[in-house]
Amino acid sequence: MEKARQIFTPKILASTGMDVKKIVEKRVMEEIRKYPPFKRVLIALSGGKDSASLLHIIKNFLPDKDIVPVHLNLGIDGFSEKSEEFARMQAEESGLELTVFNLKKELGFTIMDAKKLYPKICSVCGGIKRYLLNKIAYESGVDIILTAHHLDDFLVRMLKSTLNAKVEELIRFKPYLPRNGNLIAKGRPFWKVSESLILRYASFESLSFITERCPIGMKKNIERLRRAIDILATNENQKNIYLLSLMKIAEKLEKTEVGMGKTQLRPCSSCGFLSSNVICSFCIRVKKIRSFIEERK
Ligand SMILES: [Zn+2]
Repeated sequence: MEKARQIFTPKILASTGMDVKKIVEKRVMEEIRKYPPFKRVLIALSGGKDSASLLHIIKNFLPDKDIVPVHLNLGIDGFSEKSEEFARMQAEESGLELTVFNLKKELGFTIMDAKKLYPKICSVCGGIKRYLLNKIAYESGVDIILTAHHLDDFLVRMLKSTLNAKVEELIRFKPYLPRNGNLIAKGRPFWKVSESLILRYASFESLSFITERCPIGMKKNIERLRRAIDILATNENQKNIYLLSLMKIAEKLEKTEVGMGKTQLRPCSSCGFLSSNVICSFCIRVKKIRSFIEERK
């Protein structure tokens, strides 16, 4: 019995902390070397292990880059304060100064306020974060935004799009997106690294990070998908194989009519950032949330 268990233990689980360190750093740096040259890079620090590990790797391997660590304080009770504290600690540990964008101070509302208007807050929150990171990057002359989406995030996202036949979403989620006008280039260099490997990496490197997950949102479906993926793919390699298959499907779809008929982007009539609508979804939502708060006063 003992022997059988040993045989079926995935290699990655049997590896040492030093092996994990080498694998993670190699995979991330291989990805980053594929990007067009860049000098100034924004790293979105949430306070968690993933972005802490990303900052740690960039700082160690690319010391000549101009790193701008940014944290978005979303105003989530009992969570955002602590997240900001950890993000600050992570930036300090790398000898960098953290830029904090506080939603309440800058926009006049928190994600808790937005949730009252948008109960399915996760996608709205994601959209607000993407918009703000791009705006901050654009205004600070950043060449590329790096986020810490990992292998499991990619699998969940792409599988969800496939199961719901959301073809455009499936095509859009990529490890690298080049710059398009005032939309800054985006890189997700952890796409070949699983969450468990990042956790081991962050622990091995003794990085400080928040362990709590965001307490709000309707994430039950996502959790179920995560569990299903863990059942389907029992090791790192299998996860990579499944993700590559989903990407192949996305690539093929991109070449069909659905992919070719991509919506033309134009400057939002309110803020000027490129959008598929006359007014971008960020501007529409901010306006709605503000009048919602105003009405309730
Ligand atoms: Zn706008």
